[in-house]
Amino acid sequence: MEARIWGCRGSLATPGPRTVRYGGNTTCVELRTATGAVVVLDAGTGIRDLGRALVGSVTELDLLLTHLHLDHIEGLGFFAPLFDPGCTVRVHGPRPDGGSLAEMVATYLSPPYFPVPFERIDADLTFVELERDTFELDGLRVTSAPVKHPGPTLAYRLSENGTSFAFVPDNEPGLERESGLEVAAGADLLLHDAQYTDDEYTTRVGWGHCSLSHFTAYLRDAAPARAVMVHHDPTHDDAELERMLDEARSASGHERLELGHEGLALQLP
Ligand SMILES: [Zn+2]
Ligand SMILES: [Zn+2]
Repeated sequence: MEARIWGCRGSLATPGPRTVRYGGNTTCVELRTATGAVVVLDAGTGIRDLGRALVGSVTELDLLLTHLHLDHIEGLGFFAPLFDPGCTVRVHGPRPDGGSLAEMVATYLSPPYFPVPFERIDADLTFVELERDTFELDGLRVTSAPVKHPGPTLAYRLSENGTSFAFVPDNEPGLERESGLEVAAGADLLLHDAQYTDDEYTTRVGWGHCSLSHFTAYLRDAAPARAVMVHHDPTHDDAELERMLDEARSASGHERLELGHEGLALQLP
């Protein structure tokens, strides 16, 4: 399988000259299985360009949502396969508080939040609510697990032919050290929240994200073969992200740690 990052900014899309190296689009990762099936993780603004690349060449895909904070769904209405009547899109995600996953997504993709009524979406759209589950998608084993973050939120582990990819973009192990380890531990590749400096975290406890110290401690606990820092804070420019990478490398001693950026292709052995 191969993963590709289409967006790794957290909280709010942040375009502009200060974010050109790592990108300003919010969370979206494409995964291709060995058989060519398409699995999309989160629907931040990065999903728009992914949709342009996919439309016309796919007839079905699975979208795994970690949760419904806007930075993870705000691109969905601009995802071209949704307006392809020949495409089936299966949306998986946590059951939200106060309604179903389908109701919440339909509310967001309807006036007054969105100009096109939900009924006008052309694709065959189905919804699957998850909590702590394991299931198969075309030979890919998917495991979901709740993590520490405001509101129902999942992390995912995707495994194929003995290789595993863990996706944990929003997680606050500072409040619960074990959070998400059931999917992250020992992964061949881990994409994980590394949003705040330690100073910033002191005024953001409970917002659902990592300080650098919590992130590097988490790396030692999870011990992934390769790790990628994601959910970059909107206030962090390219230079600040690189400074944070240096700090995380020296604090963790991890030899295969890098920053996520748009366009990064991650081959899994
Ligand atoms: Zn987020
Ligand atoms: Zn969130």
